[in-house]
Amino acid sequence: MKTMTCKQLGGPCDVAHEGESADEIIKTQERHLKDVVAQGDSSHESALADMKGRRRNPLKGMGWYKKVKSDYAALPEL
Ligand SMILES: [Zn+2]
Repeated sequence: MKTMTCKQLGGPCDVAHEGESADEIIKTQERHLKDVVAQGDSSHESALADMKGRRRNPLKGMGWYKKVKSDYAALPEL
């Protein structure tokens, strides 16, 4: 289990997400972005738009995924 913050994943806040893998944390971050934007938080809108853009264009988003995965791999296990 490791933790990454919203900020480490390209978002604006310090909410920490826990996960057994980078993919799990990315999914949690995606849910977090949708939740807070749905609650009217505009500071997360651009991060959510980026996330959607990566879904639409996985090739372009590959660099971001690789970076998150290597950041995740570099973190100590909790
Ligand atoms: Zn956030």
